[in-house]
Amino acid sequence: MNLEDKIKKLYDYNKRLHVFDAISALTDWDRATGGPKGGIQIKQEIFSYLSGEEYNLLTSNEFGELLKSLEMQKEELNQKDRRLFDLTKRKAEDVRSIPKNEYTEYSSFIAESQEVWEEAKENNDYLMFAPYLKKIIEYNKKFAGYRQKNNMPLYDVLLDDYEEGMTMKDYDKFFETLRKDLVPLIHKILEKGKKTPISWDGEIFDTAKQEELSEEILKIIGFNFDNGMFKASAHPFTTGFDNKDIRLTTRYDEKDLAMSLFSTMHEGGHAIYEQQIADEYRFSMLGGGVSSGIHESQSRTFENEYGKSREFLRFCLPKLKQKFEFLKDVDEEYFYRAYNQAIPSAIRIEADELTYPLHIMIRYELEKEMMNKDIDINTLNIKWREKYKEYLGIDIENDSEGILQDVHWAAGLIGYFPTYALGSAYASQFTEILKKEIDLNKLLENGEFKPILEWHKENIHSYGSLKTPKELLKDVTLEDLNPKYYVDYLINKFSKIYDL
Ligand SMILES: [Zn+2]
Repeated sequence: MNLEDKIKKLYDYNKRLHVFDAISALTDWDRATGGPKGGIQIKQEIFSYLSGEEYNLLTSNEFGELLKSLEMQKEELNQKDRRLFDLTKRKAEDVRSIPKNEYTEYSSFIAESQEVWEEAKENNDYLMFAPYLKKIIEYNKKFAGYRQKNNMPLYDVLLDDYEEGMTMKDYDKFFETLRKDLVPLIHKILEKGKKTPISWDGEIFDTAKQEELSEEILKIIGFNFDNGMFKASAHPFTTGFDNKDIRLTTRYDEKDLAMSLFSTMHEGGHAIYEQQIADEYRFSMLGGGVSSGIHESQSRTFENEYGKSREFLRFCLPKLKQKFEFLKDVDEEYFYRAYNQAIPSAIRIEADELTYPLHIMIRYELEKEMMNKDIDINTLNIKWREKYKEYLGIDIENDSEGILQDVHWAAGLIGYFPTYALGSAYASQFTEILKKEIDLNKLLENGEFKPILEWHKENIHSYGSLKTPKELLKDVTLEDLNPKYYVDYLINKFSKIYDL
């Protein structure tokens, strides 16, 4: 087989893997957006069939031979083919490294652990979940050990899964900056204790009107409805098959317009990223966003830097007034402040823009301890409470609103959390450059997203997974990760809001 044929084969394999992913995504989408309760079992059958097929493909001799022979000719590959080879090889190695029986055992354990977590959360009973968490950490250590190269720390193996190239050393430095600069700011705000009471509290935001509004917002920010679909679900998410079919959801709360407004902006950011990936990467591992952190940078840019900006809220307010009569006397500045309050709270997903990264920092610190030290998992809830007190100044009353609030650990996701905070930092670093090239504030004020989308497409989106996150960041900003932009953005914004 000549090189050209081998490359063609690599793309063929990718297409098959891509189709497996697409069926999973479609099944998930269907379940989350109205599929009947009775469909849970067939969903599990579909998933286990697909993961079996994927395993067989990735561990087949033929596929192994192909990778081996491409490895020898790697230097002859162009950038695109080489990157695809690297990504494919990595996926194959990950799957091959874990013995099939252990992997199956782990999958069913994870399914059980999530059920136990749900019950434990309901009953506010951390000790019920603790043995599962302990075992999940053991599994993760063991599996990371199979994949460990050059004696790198086990936690680094996991961190790299979610954000290629990021290590504990990078994250330590990153969170150190956040701790040093943000914790005092939050404490200052807490001392001042100035809250903007929401004047429309108690009013009902009609769901049908919220739906109209969310659709309108998606059109304004440039989501392409010809290549996408929009619905509601209990937990907002974005999924899709390729750049021509991207789907997103939002969540409606009749008492709180902010829920759908900012969820729609957030998921819209994820969705537009996927829609703007170049056609040439379709049906391969190059055809999706490159990493959790970069993906989150795009969603958070739309949610926070654009969505919660004074300019964009000014643009939106008249539209809201048209739909919701009781907002008619609300003034711009008040509206901006009402939706930009920093109030430390126990729940991560309800946190504001300023306190959010500290929720992540706490999870990072605890994951690090669990992965690096032999700590007592049974008392981890106590550590959780201590950290919330220290960083956010709040008392956690019960574990349901503390250590049991997130599903991530129960689902086996260790090393994922830090990408949430990283995404916001990337966002500020990117926006700094964007602002030098286009008049962002003016565009937001006019609700004119076309030039903004063009910028994102040209600099970030179109590449799909061609560049690593580090390469992408450096090509756009000419710097490595620099949390200074993020911290400065937050200090600047919230000092003004709180007149500090
Ligand atoms: Zn997101």
